[in-house]
Amino acid sequence: MLVVMRHDATPDQIDRVVAVIEELGYAARPMPGAQRTAVGIVGNDGRIDAARLSALDGVRDILHVSQPYRQVSREWRPDDTVIRMAGGVSVGDVDIPIIAGPCSVESEDQIVDIAHQVRAAGATMLRGGAFKPRSSPYAFQGIGPEGLKHLARARAETGLLVVTEAMDPDGVELVEEYADVIQIGARNMQNYSLLRRVGQSRKPVLLKRGLAATITEWLLSAEYVLAEGNQQVILCERGIRGFDPSTRNVFDLTAIPVAKRASHLPIIADPSHGTGARDLVIPMARAAIAAGADGLMVEVHVAPEQALSDGAQSMYPHQFADLVRQIRRVADAIGRRVATPSSAPAAT
Ligand code: PEP
Ligand code: MN
Repeated sequence: MLVVMRHDATPDQIDRVVAVIEELGYAARPMPGAQRTAVGIVGNDGRIDAARLSALDGVRDILHVSQPYRQVSREWRPDDTVIRMAGGVSVGDVDIPIIAGPCSVESEDQIVDIAHQVRAAGATMLRGGAFKPRSSPYAFQGIGPEGLKHLARARAETGLLVVTEAMDPDGVELVEEYADVIQIGARNMQNYSLLRRVGQSRKPVLLKRGLAATITEWLLSAEYVLAEGNQQVILCERGIRGFDPSTRNVFDLTAIPVAKRASHLPIIADPSHGTGARDLVIPMARAAIAAGADGLMVEVHVAPEQALSDGAQSMYPHQFADLVRQIRRVADAIGRRVATPSSAPAAT
């Protein structure tokens, strides 16, 4: 439930609404918006007496959120959420950040080298998994905590913010020490204890869509994070299972405007996992930005043929530079702009 205040409601009137919600035994989330402030009621089980609130001074309306995901919905917050990070990097406004790097951190030299190359080409964030959720227990599982240290070194040298995955609730503490954005992988989209744990983090969360998740299930997973108090969720479309082995996944372009219509959260696209083939990444990256994605995440490796994971979909650095050039033109055509790397290494 949402208490919508009149546009001229005073801070005292808003405070009174918050106090009454708390007296009723619920948590209140005031949300100043462009037009008016709304106060969300968290923990509402439908039995709340709306008359107690609608009679208060400054209240314009009481809205019942019809979607199963509440705080994630546009009904709850009509304005787009913009996530602001160190170094002036943001996700969800005009600027389009490009996150690039290898699937996995393999060594310090590998990640530092690729970080310099993707930064020079126009990336604003660096990706790379230190902990890898692999379909086979015999496949390369990532180099673990050492990988986080290598990422921190790459950030210190280049100023690129770091996006890296946490795989289980116990592992979050270490990852959040090093990461600027905590990635939740597709295979973990419905790991609810992990979602609750990152919901208690102060770092933004990049939530990938599950391999066979509906958009509603995906948004409900985001709701777990918001329900714990972390409002900083970036959705990431990375393809879903299809029947046709021609591509690794079916990159669901339609999910981008559908999720944007349903939710105020920013959404980025990962055409690397979405297609599974490096020559398909540029066309789908162009399409994703044209469809309204707020950013891109792509895999780039200095020597993809030697990559320890996802080599076939990892671009060569020169292809990545070409991608950025093309995305700048698409962004320009729709009134957006590819974010530029910050001039100084970002503070963490
Ligand atoms: C990854 O980003 O390397 C990854 C494992 O992605 P996903 O969870 O989308 O498969
Ligand atoms: Mn990968």
